[in-house]
Amino acid sequence: MSERFDVVVVGSGSSGGVLAARLSEDASRSVCLVEAGPDFPREAEVAPSFYAGGGYFGFSPVWEHDWGYASEPLPWGRVIPIPRGRLMGGSSMTNGTLCVRGAPFDFARWETLGATGWGWDAVRPCYEAVEREIPLKTYPRRGWQPAQEAFAAALEERGFRWHDEMNGPDAWHGTLGPGPFNRLDEQRQGTLPTYLRRARGRANLVLRPDTLVDRVLLRDGRAQGVRAIGRDGKPYELAAGLVVLAAGAIGTPAILLRSGIGPPAELRALGIEPVHDLPVGKRLHDHSTCAFRFEAPHLADVCSPNSSVIARDPDDSWLAVAYASAEGRECCFTFVMTDDPGLGEVTLASADPTAAPRIRLHYELDGYTPCWELALELLGDRRFAGARPAAGSLPDVLRDGITTGHHAAGTCGIGRVVAPDLRVLGLEGLAVADASIFPAHVSNNPNHTCFMIGERAAQLLGS
Ligand SMILES: Cc1cc2nc3c(=O)[nH]c(=O)nc-3n(C[C@H](O)[C@H](O)[C@H](O)COP(=O)(O)OP(=O)(O)OC[C@H]3O[C@@H](n4cnc5c(N)ncnc54)[C@H](O)[C@@H]3O)c2cc1C
Repeated sequence: MSERFDVVVVGSGSSGGVLAARLSEDASRSVCLVEAGPDFPREAEVAPSFYAGGGYFGFSPVWEHDWGYASEPLPWGRVIPIPRGRLMGGSSMTNGTLCVRGAPFDFARWETLGATGWGWDAVRPCYEAVEREIPLKTYPRRGWQPAQEAFAAALEERGFRWHDEMNGPDAWHGTLGPGPFNRLDEQRQGTLPTYLRRARGRANLVLRPDTLVDRVLLRDGRAQGVRAIGRDGKPYELAAGLVVLAAGAIGTPAILLRSGIGPPAELRALGIEPVHDLPVGKRLHDHSTCAFRFEAPHLADVCSPNSSVIARDPDDSWLAVAYASAEGRECCFTFVMTDDPGLGEVTLASADPTAAPRIRLHYELDGYTPCWELALELLGDRRFAGARPAAGSLPDVLRDGITTGHHAAGTCGIGRVVAPDLRVLGLEGLAVADASIFPAHVSNNPNHTCFMIGERAAQLLGS
């Protein structure tokens, strides 16, 4: 192998971008950050493609820098597009930028599932470290869209408690408040213009964009490095003392499976020689989401296109937001199910590293019944007088409208595929640090938790 680094980090997204930047603070450690997508070394000049606003109706991922994944058909035949960022900064540069911490009780649950050392006292300083590097903002209530104000006031009347700081550890169990976003001048503040901008000048950090990692090279139970495919399409090898996979909840299991790490029968069926038996790719968690639309021309004013209110269920099974459409007639309440059993799966379709993996989603529909009832109750509130629910029953709305919350996680969970220190169980020199390692989902949008994992991984793997 021609090149050798102390650490090779694969994937520069929410977790990998933070981790590589932190590990390279030690000038004696050589770090290579390998990323399948392009880099933007002068990213300040291309900032318009990272515009983050537009609310629910206007929000669109950055499709020109995306993997273009889609799910296997749901039981009733619908195929769901699954965007994932493919560029330096990963999905942190293509997402909706709602930047919210997990709940203290999420991490108590992680610990009961074997994630020792991941309790609130350990993760909270890591969230705080992220917040010192990445600017967060909220939009003041006095400027909210009328639909958001009506939604908030109607929920307050029904016992939801107002919180100015939705990242506070007590902002749970029936609360609402302004959504915190990682935006600056309405530009996404993912890892590209924050951690990586500050780190990219370091002599000990090599950023290797446009480079697809096929697999981890293993010998005698130890990772030696990775097999990568560069811009010219030619494979080559990078040697490393430690390989950290941070390719995301879909990309990381795919690399492990191509490396022969996974269920042996599944691998043999694809012509891959099994090396190490672990339940890689199982227990895919996602949060499903569904918008309940209604016509309310008197509320459908997008005066503040980027503002957001979040409401949290008294039982912490769902989150909800409200938006007006830019077209000026429709509004919606959008519910996100946070109570996810993790019964989806990522498997390979082929050993070819350029082939998309298979993504089987599993969504439970029952949790939407109380949300639908609440939505109908809110539409009966005086603030929504004159609103007309979009036609259809709940089963119809779900059949056509349920989709991914973009929150894939858990495919290499702590306790099943990696140890609490993030090293792959039973192997040397190989670790995972990204959304894959969630032993259970968090009760919130996961991006801030993925940033936090980058910080925590630097503590665990950097010493
Ligand atoms: C459209 C969209 C909207 C979202 N909105 C929000 C939101 O508002 N709030 C929120 O909290 N969460 C949101 N999320 C989820 C959040 O962005 C993700 O949970 C988080 O970014 C995952 O971080 P990660 O580090 O695990 O993976 P990623 O950030 O996806 O990083 C993985 C990186 O690895 C690279 N990679 C993958 N495979 C390979 C390979 N074989 N070789 C080399 N490189 C590879 C990818 O190109 C990518 O850069 C959204 C996600 C999407 C896609």
